Amino acid sequence: MRVVIVGGGMAGLVLARGLAHRGVSPIVVERMPPDVVVEGPIMLPFQAYDALEEIGLLAEIRSAGRDVPPIRNGQPVAIGVGRQLVLDRLREGLEISWEQEVVELVREGGRVVGVRVRSEDGERNLDADLVVGADGTHSRVRELAGIEAELQLSDSAFLGFRSPVHSDDAFLINFTADGRQATLLDWPGGTAGGWQIDRPEGGEAAALAPGVEAFKRAYLGLLPGAAAAIEPVTELRYREVMEVHCETWSRPGVTLIGEALHAMNPEAGIGSGLGMGDAQALAIAIGRNRDDPDAALADYERWRRPAVAPYLAVGSQGVRVVRGGEVPHEERWPPA
Ligand SMILES: Cc1cc2nc3c(=O)[nH]c(=O)nc-3n(C[C@H](O)[C@H](O)[C@H](O)COP(=O)(O)OP(=O)(O)OC[C@H]3O[C@@H](n4cnc5c(N)ncnc54)[C@H](O)[C@@H]3O)c2cc1C
Repeated sequence: MRVVIVGGGMAGLVLARGLAHRGVSPIVVERMPPDVVVEGPIMLPFQAYDALEEIGLLAEIRSAGRDVPPIRNGQPVAIGVGRQLVLDRLREGLEISWEQEVVELVREGGRVVGVRVRSEDGERNLDADLVVGADGTHSRVRELAGIEAELQLSDSAFLGFRSPVHSDDAFLINFTADGRQATLLDWPGGTAGGWQIDRPEGGEAAALAPGVEAFKRAYLGLLPGAAAAIEPVTELRYREVMEVHCETWSRPGVTLIGEALHAMNPEAGIGSGLGMGDAQALAIAIGRNRDDPDAALADYERWRRPAVAPYLAVGSQGVRVVRGGEVPHEERWPPA
């Protein structure tokens, strides 16, 4: 089966490796150049482990990261590790068409039979029996395929920092009265902290206005154990979050995985695990139906929908610890 994977993020690359593992050579099309470095860590959750184990990368990634306890049956609940390191390991042995942007789907009758890609050298078509949109939250493949998606800007946002100073604890978390999180993740590159705040009406400018020192004081009120890590910080980062939900996953000749299909609020801490799990399920389904893309998509959806349904039903509320009542002044940002 000729498979074109649109997007060389974690979900697309895990699919490509899972297919290569089964003797299927996909084409991966990525619009970015290969030398873009993604800074900072990711907290890889246990939901990613099966997919990484199958392609022989779990032990290597774990040894290059830091275990986040609790440890059950010898495995940590998550691994704090550099995003770029994970991408580099996944890319090994794959041929990726860099700086090629998918701009159209090619159709015959009602069926998708390829993609049109644009690069410096112009435009060309790539034939495919199956096109996989692994192209993230604002998926072009999803839009071109006519797959309806609910996109919702979250009412929370993240204000965070990175520090070269390590923490004794692999992970610290505390919750405000309404269940918003303050976290600190240790990884081999240092620490990364974040506070999930109500998205302020004034956006980034309003969130940053009180200044770094005021932020440090308020954040340490929630997470005193982060004092050493935050001490040298001079810069904050503000991120808003788009959540994505799709009822339909596929159309003839095309399907979706990862954040193109379901992007949850990062507070849930499972985004990469869901994406890698999608990729693994699709790789298995293609491997078992090598000459029949429709049968592969039917298997993919039949296996994967029930596996992700509980996560999608509960959403990030599943990880919230809500004390209830008024949120005290000192647990609000920006301060009134
Ligand atoms: C702020 C934040 C923090 C997060 N923290 C965590 C965490 O700690 N733990 C966790 O498990 N998850 C986390 N996630 C989620 C996690 O990053 C993703 O689930 C994971 O990276 C998989 O994403 P993806 O591969 O589906 O999409 P992406 O990583 O978005 O990759 C999509 C790729 O497609 C390419 N592309 C897009 N359009 C086209 C096109 N038309 N043609 C060609 N290429 C195209 C893009 O360049 C990109 O490389 C976080 C997400 C955010 C936003």
